[in-house]
Formats: sequence, C-alpha cells, structure tokens
Amino acid sequence: MKALSIQNLKKTYKNGFQALKGVDLEVECGDFFALLGPNGAGKSTMIGIISSLVTKSSGVVNIFGHDLDKDNGRAKSCIGLVPQEVNFNQFETVKNVVLNQAGYYGIPRKLAQVQAEYCLRQMDLWDKRDSVSRRLSGGMKRRLMIARAMVHKPRLLILDEPTAGVDIEIRRSMWQMMQDVNREGTTIILTTHYLEEAESLCRNIAIINNGEIVEKSGMSALLNRI
Ligand code: ADP
Ligand code: ADP
Repeated sequence: MKALSIQNLKKTYKNGFQALKGVDLEVECGDFFALLGPNGAGKSTMIGIISSLVTKSSGVVNIFGHDLDKDNGRAKSCIGLVPQEVNFNQFETVKNVVLNQAGYYGIPRKLAQVQAEYCLRQMDLWDKRDSVSRRLSGGMKRRLMIARAMVHKPRLLILDEPTAGVDIEIRRSMWQMMQDVNREGTTIILTTHYLEEAESLCRNIAIINNGEIVEKSGMSALLNRI
C-alpha cells in the first residue's frame, strides 16, 4: 500500500484551463516527499484535489488505500493540510486554534486537550498557548498552522510552502520539527521554493511543470546528476 497513489489525474477549470494533464504519482508510506515546480505548474491544484478542496476532472486518487471518490471520509481523515496562507482565526488563542480544529474533526474534548498539547509542544508553541494568535511572529504562525493540521493525527501531512518568507534561522528550526514529525511515522509531502529545503529534508522528489510530471527521482540520485 502507498501513502498516495495517483493515476492519470486531470483537472480542467471551468474557464477551460487545463491545470493537470494526466498526472501519475506514488508516494511511499513514511516518505518525506518534495513536489517542486515553477509558479503556475499545478502544485496547488494537485494538493487541493488530494485534500478534497478541489474537484478533479478525471483520474484515480488513493490515500492509504482509500479511494478519494468511493471512500472520501476515510481518505480525508488521513490528511493534514497546511495551506500557504495563514487562515486561522487570529483573535483566538493559540490553544483554541488547535482545539477548534479538533472540534471540527469530532475529537472528544479530553482527547483533544491531550492532542493539542502534544502538537503545540512538538511545534515549540506550548509556552504561547494562551497568547492571542494574532500576536505571534510569522514563523510562529506557520508552526501553529502545522500544529493545527496535526491534531487529528493525520498519516499524511501536506505542507504547502511551510517556510515561505521565514528567515533562515527560524526555517532551520522548522526543518528540525518537520523531521521529527516524519521520524514518528507521518508521511510528508512538501512544496517549496527553497531548493536547499527540499535537498536537506526530502528523500524523493517530483517536479511538475505545465500540469505534467517532468521528473521523478530519489533526491540523492537527482543531486548526483546535476
Ligand atoms: P472548480 O472547477 O473546481 O469548480 P472554478 O473554476 O469554479 O473551480 O474556480 C474556483 C475558484 O477559483 C473561483 O472562485 C475562481 O474565482 C478562482 N479562480 C479563477 N481563476 C483562477 C486562477 N487563475 N488562479 C486562482 N484562482 C482562480
Ligand atoms: P502552482 O501551485 O504550481 O503555482 P496552481 O495549481 O495554483 O499552480 O495553478 C496552476 C494553473 O492553473 C495556473 O495557470 C493557474 O492560473 C490556474 N488556475 C488555478 N486555479 C484556477 C481556477 N480556479 N480557475 C482557473 N485557472 C486556475
């Protein structure tokens, strides 16, 4: 079984633009996987489809063996999504941002408390739990996005440019945290503009351009070639 298996995935938006032209992709369980490509390549479209936020036009998507169409509830509960833009309620406290997400997943209150603490500690935000989230630094807000995405223990964490705009020191500390999450068994798919980020974190990589996968490789094999 694969963490993610995609066959002949196509997406044409309502205006007629074909954003995905038949994508095939497999991600192994436990992998730390990079999805790279220039702006407009189709990364967000793909991530949107995998997370059930965007409807696909055709093709098959399986998440840990759950078909996105036939078994949507199970497929969805396997996924934790960290979108690019900060989209939590910034008037909530840090802890409540995570607890509200737990509520959304129907996690019982007591378990939610335990999970929220675990995820906030993992992202080094536990000391900030009672702060209003609006007051967090940019890097902390990004880490809160990750903590929130993990509260239901997703088996696949999708990080869309998780360190965009964060300075290098904070970025490095975030790499450490993401690696810890991966080491605990969570499969991670990451999109990034920082090549060195993909290089230091990811074992496998796919490059997408113009709605097509143009390269699939192990990271070390790719680095040896260029
Ligand atoms: P779907 O085919 O999944 O229903 P739509 O074609 O209805 O998607 O578009 C969804 C939303 O994306 C619309 O609200 C639209 O305004 C917005 N949108 C349109 N064009 C673009 C674009 N080039 N990039 C990003 N978003 C866009
Ligand atoms: P990336 O994440 O790699 O930058 P996207 O998946 O956001 O790429 O976009 C791929 C292409 O699809 C772009 O040309 C974008 O303008 C277009 N696109 C994205 N969303 C929509 C939409 N809702 N309607 C029409 N075109 C869209």
